[in-house]
This record gives sequence, C-alpha cells and structure tokens, in this order.
Amino acid sequence: METVDLAIVGGGASGLLACICALRTEPSLSVTVLEAADRVGKKLLTTGNGRCNLTSNVITPQRYHGDRDFAARVLQNFSKTRTLDLFDDLSLRVVAIEDKVFPYSLQASGVLDCLRFACEELGAEIRTNSAVTILTPTKENFLLTLANGSALRAKRVIWAVGSPAGVKFSPVSLYDPIVRLGHPMAPIYPTLVQVRTELDLIRPLKGIKVEAAVSAMRRDKLLRREEGEVLFADYGISGPPVLQISRLVSTGECDRIVLDLTPDLSISEVEVELMRRLTRCADRPDAEFLTGFLNKRVGQTLFKLAGGERSAQGMRRLAALIKSFSLVPRGVTGWQNAQAAAGGIEPMNFDPATMQSRKVAGLYVCGEVLNVDGDCGGFNLQFAWSTGALAGSSAARSLQ
Ligand SMILES: Cc1cc2nc3c(=O)[nH]c(=O)nc-3n(C[C@H](O)[C@H](O)[C@H](O)COP(=O)(O)OP(=O)(O)OC[C@H]3O[C@@H](n4cnc5c(N)ncnc54)[C@H](O)[C@@H]3O)c2cc1C
Repeated sequence: METVDLAIVGGGASGLLACICALRTEPSLSVTVLEAADRVGKKLLTTGNGRCNLTSNVITPQRYHGDRDFAARVLQNFSKTRTLDLFDDLSLRVVAIEDKVFPYSLQASGVLDCLRFACEELGAEIRTNSAVTILTPTKENFLLTLANGSALRAKRVIWAVGSPAGVKFSPVSLYDPIVRLGHPMAPIYPTLVQVRTELDLIRPLKGIKVEAAVSAMRRDKLLRREEGEVLFADYGISGPPVLQISRLVSTGECDRIVLDLTPDLSISEVEVELMRRLTRCADRPDAEFLTGFLNKRVGQTLFKLAGGERSAQGMRRLAALIKSFSLVPRGVTGWQNAQAAAGGIEPMNFDPATMQSRKVAGLYVCGEVLNVDGDCGGFNLQFAWSTGALAGSSAARSLQ
C-alpha cells in the first residue's frame, strides 16, 4: 500500500492552504489531498455571494464564538496580515470594501484558482471522489480508509473536513473519526442562517426590506444587538443582522427577537413625529397615516397592530411598537442555508501554535470542524486560513 508523507483530508479553504504551506515549508514532501466531492473548494465558490469575503480588516477575538480563547491564540500565531502576505505571494490581489476584504476580481473562483494552481505547482496530488471514512493510527503511521474502497498510509494527517453548513449533511465522516480518537466535540448547530419566526404578525410584510436594529433577548435580557437590512420572508426574517444573531436562536438561547424599525430615532422622537401626524395627517385614511415616515406596508401593518387609535395614547402605543416590534423565534431554516456550524471538535486537545493533537501525535486538525465559529464578514475564512497555514507548516516541519 502506498505511503505518503502527509495526507490532507478535505480540499476546502483550510485544507488547500495547509497543502500550500506544507510544501512551501518542505518542498520534497509527498502530499496528497483527499477530497470527498468531485472537485475541491466547492464551498469556497459560494462564499460572499460568489465574491468570497476572504477576511476582515477588523479581526478581533470578540467576533468569534465557541472556544474564543483558542481562536485568539490561533490568530496571534497566524494573523490576518500574514494571511494577506501569503495570498499576495500566490498572486491574489485583494480589495477592501468597508471592513470586508475581497479578491480584487470580486470572484471567489479567482481565490480557488490561485489555491489550486499553487497546490499543482508545488507538486501536491489532489484526489477527488475520495471521502475518508476511517482514520486509524498505527505504530508507524496512519491508515486512511476511503469510502471508495481504497486505502492509503500517511506519516502525518491533517483533518480539514469543514462542517455540514451549506452542504449535504454527512456527520459520520466529518467528526466521528476524530471523536473516536479521544477528542470530544460540542453539539453542532447551524449558524449564520435565516431565522424562522411566528408568522401571523409578519405575513403582510413578506418581501419587504427595512433598516432595523435586531435584538436577541432571553427572559427580557439583551443577548446581542445588530443593525442593518432586515428582509421579511415567508419563513420569518433574514438579512445581515439576523444572520449575526441566528446562532442564539439555533442554540435555543434566544426566546424573543425585538426589531427597532427606527434605530436612529429615540422613542420620544418617534412620539413627536406621530403626534405631529395626528394633526397634519388628520384627513388621511388609516392606511396612509404613516406614509412618508415608514415603509408603506410596514406602516399599515403596525398601525393596525397598535389598535389604530388616533389619540395621544394610541400614538404612544404605536411608537412603542415601532421601537420594539417583538417576534417569537421558531428555530432556523437549517443546515443547507447555513454559512457555518456552531460547535464541533473541542480545540482544547490541540496546540494553537501547531494545530497538532495533544492526544494523537502526527494528527492535525484545522478549519470549521473545530468548535470555533465567527461572525458573518470574513471571520470564518480567516480562521480556516490561519489554522490551515499553522497545521500545514507544522506538519511539514515535523517531517524535516
Ligand atoms: C453559502 C456560504 C457562504 C459563505 N461565505 C463566507 C464568506 O464570505 N466569508 C467567510 O469568512 N466565510 C464564509 N462562509 C464560511 C466558509 O466558507 C467556511 O467557514 C470555510 O469554507 C471553512 O473552511 P474549511 O476548510 O474548514 O471547510 P470547507 O471549505 O467546507 O472544506 C472542507 C472540505 O472537506 C471535504 N470533506 C468533508 N468530509 C470529508 C471526508 N470525510 N473526506 C474527504 N473530504 C471531506 C468537503 O467536501 C470540503 O470540500 C460561507 C459559507 C457558506 C456555506
């Protein structure tokens, strides 16, 4: 049976960068990337709506969840700056749009191609349709058993299989081989995903986008507040601020979502606006009372919900509703729509400087399979790049 120096399981963001860093550290190594799908980097192509938001200019540990301390140490050991220097070496020019960093071409395919070309130029072997199902450490090396019936031996293994987010769920071959080797995992939940809510209140608003502040609450305590564009849909709500709080819905921590539909106005400013309307819009029908202030359908819906009473008390009720439009969450839309997984293999058994297991020598883990998830905005790919780079270069150094 063939024995390679390094087998990388998973040809996604972290696995491909691990491959490049391994071969740049020690060009004489035999490195094989085993990818379950019919091509590498499929998920990468869908990132950032096809534009690949590959990192952020405001990477801080606070933007990570799960094992945040581990994320902080990883990012210290391989920073965003080093990542961008590496991409520059791979001839990928980048551009920042606000805090988000994209390829200059605004094409995710350009990022994947630069990674693929570098793997090929450095002499890596990439095998597609090669899902690894069993990983067995032996005295000398590792035995990797594949779903297609073949097997391979490797002196070092990097496990870079990602998560079920945005792909068809295959839990056994993602986490199980690593859990069986004594690494516990935290339960996984889809995150950065649309939120289902009670529908009665928002049915008339389907298809409308508004600027709002979204607060995730638990027993009236604020867990997290995010501002941005919110979309009302037939399942509930979506949009960037909703994705950011979706983790709290998915894990069951959030029991109420409160939308502030005028985040730049205080409640007293809204009350003043409404009181002026009592006289100025006195002749208007109810359906037009808030026209010129709020989105028309939002205004009509809230006016009705507040009782439709044109009095000072009615305006106070309406202002309260505009500032605190409360929805009960009913879970999230699921793995296929999620951009990341909360939970995963607990990183405590891995060295954040090398990504090597403290339990199984020669085994490295990188990317989203670990219990670290970032906010929307380039944070998850940055974690994949940093952990992939550390795993690849450390595995190669251990073979020198
Ligand atoms: C729609 C969408 C948009 C996103 N947009 C962004 C964004 O703009 N910015 C950002 O930072 N993050 C984004 N993300 C998240 C980001 O894509 C992931 O965090 C990142 O790809 C994780 O890298 P990874 O290497 O851990 O896993 P992946 O990139 O998922 O790679 C894992 C690879 O391993 C393969 N594999 C799995 N099991 C096996 C096995 N047993 N044997 C062999 N191969 C296997 C998979 O087929 C896959 O190719 C997005 C995610 C989605 C779904």
